[in-house]
Amino acid sequence: MFDARAIRKQFPILERQVHGVPLVYLDNAATSQKPQAVLDALTDYYTRYNANVHRGIHTLAEEATAAYEAARARIARFIGAAGPEGVLLTRNTTEAINLVAYAWGRRHLREGDEVLLTEMEHHSNLVPWHLLAAEQGVRLRHIGITDEGYLDLSNLDELLTERTRLVSVTHMSNVLGTINPVRLLAERAHQVGAMVLVDGAQSVPHLPVDVADLGCDLLAFSSHKMLGPTGVGVLYGRPEVLETFSPFLGGGEMIQEVYLDHSTYADLPHRFEAGTPNIADAIAFGAAIDFLSGLGMEQVREHEVALTSYALRALSQVDGLTIYGPQDPQHRGGVIAFNLEGVHPHDLGTLLDQMGVAVRAGHHCAQPLMRRLGVPATARASFYLYTTEEEIDVLVTSLEKVKEFFVNAGRRAGRAV
Ligand code: PLP
Repeated sequence: MFDARAIRKQFPILERQVHGVPLVYLDNAATSQKPQAVLDALTDYYTRYNANVHRGIHTLAEEATAAYEAARARIARFIGAAGPEGVLLTRNTTEAINLVAYAWGRRHLREGDEVLLTEMEHHSNLVPWHLLAAEQGVRLRHIGITDEGYLDLSNLDELLTERTRLVSVTHMSNVLGTINPVRLLAERAHQVGAMVLVDGAQSVPHLPVDVADLGCDLLAFSSHKMLGPTGVGVLYGRPEVLETFSPFLGGGEMIQEVYLDHSTYADLPHRFEAGTPNIADAIAFGAAIDFLSGLGMEQVREHEVALTSYALRALSQVDGLTIYGPQDPQHRGGVIAFNLEGVHPHDLGTLLDQMGVAVRAGHHCAQPLMRRLGVPATARASFYLYTTEEEIDVLVTSLEKVKEFFVNAGRRAGRAV
């Protein structure tokens, strides 16, 4: 049975106190905490077999190379990729998306070509396309969202045409929690010959994700949001698709032969990994994947659906609280953005922190979505496999205290609130 309370014990940081009270960590959409197994994998690499990969013939280099490539193979299995050659290790989701814009977009897109995005994208799936649009005259189009927080597909036929070369869409919104119908979008995109890139930064950590089921060509995600270290991300690509990319960064490791005036390039995946990679963090990411696979992603998702329904019910009892995004926990992840009437989200975040509750406040790198919602910012609580109902109770009581504080402050100031 999935037991979040038992699982938490494997995360040393969750024992921490802040401001003299136990930490309630509800900022998992920003980054997750790391289990002891991941911390051990890092220490083990640096204390036993620290060496550069792919270039040494000594024992340590061979061990490091084997561990690094084993991590890649684990990642491939975790997302149902046919083999490790389609798994490119990057710094993060942002770099993975930029890699597509630089290595594919600059080579293949021309003036008049279209890239279809959505109004709920994170800046990392907007800005790389802005740069490309400015350089190459590519037209950017956007799927809007409904008032309930779903993608509005009513005008998809008009948005998706034979001019569309790429559909790049988030699988799960980092603000609304909405889980988008990526499979359907991929089918429709392929009908007009467009390629499909999925931003899996929020979905891969929290849902079972299989690239064959999704039908996508490319998938980007980050280790640090799924129990692994910062500094490692993934661009998965169907090898036939990656073969059409130009090299991204040039240098060591990504070549076959180098002459004074030209080079030939290595096979996949190394062609896209110039220079010494982030060996330790990639190996520890492999340990994070083992941890998640050991629990089972179906179980992780089930736990989060239960927590999200519990949280939506409890939060809807708080007077003056506006919750954004779909109401149905089956169609959303454990990310809940909200605003408390009369309290700026930054003040809310600061006061919650005083009570030990870590949430995020701001635009969440989704300014176009904030405009669509008609707010400058929101607070956001986000859960993970170690989050408990008791922690959600602490969030709710803390919100009540914040309200009380503001009501009393308002009364003291002699104004009606
Ligand atoms: N896409 C989404 C949906 C995200 O939530 C995030 C991070 O918050 C990113 C992309 C960017 O991830 P990273 O900062 O790891 O590159």
